[in-house]
Amino acid sequence: MANSQQQAANWLSFLLTQDVPFNELLRSHVAIGKISELCNCGCHGFGFEVPAQATVRPLQEGAGVFYELAFASNHPEEITMLLFTDERGYLSWIDVTYGACNIDPMPDGIAPANKIGVWPGTRHDLPRVDAAD
Ligand SMILES: [Zn+2]
Repeated sequence: MANSQQQAANWLSFLLTQDVPFNELLRSHVAIGKISELCNCGCHGFGFEVPAQATVRPLQEGAGVFYELAFASNHPEEITMLLFTDERGYLSWIDVTYGACNIDPMPDGIAPANKIGVWPGTRHDLPRVDAAD
């Protein structure tokens, strides 16, 4: 199933239905931004662009992986969504791949089922500031 603007919009809508701690913030980014480019490697990844004059709060500080979600699918492999932010901390890319390692192009008619895991992004270029307990 080839990547397309509509496909990307569908994945974005699907993402917004997910119960994630940053859902409201993500909605604010999606509301003012737009899908920019489509990956054509066979996955359903796409870029997202929040306008330069935006005043929404960032998802995180700086650029990098922000969050990962994995879903069972109606095919043998899972669907993985990987969220990235730009240097402003704004949503900038969503990888949507078949299998954890993008093993194959997205099969025709694939649909996500139950969520099987989430991983908040781990920043390596900034010192961790989490309070120790
Ligand atoms: Zn791709």
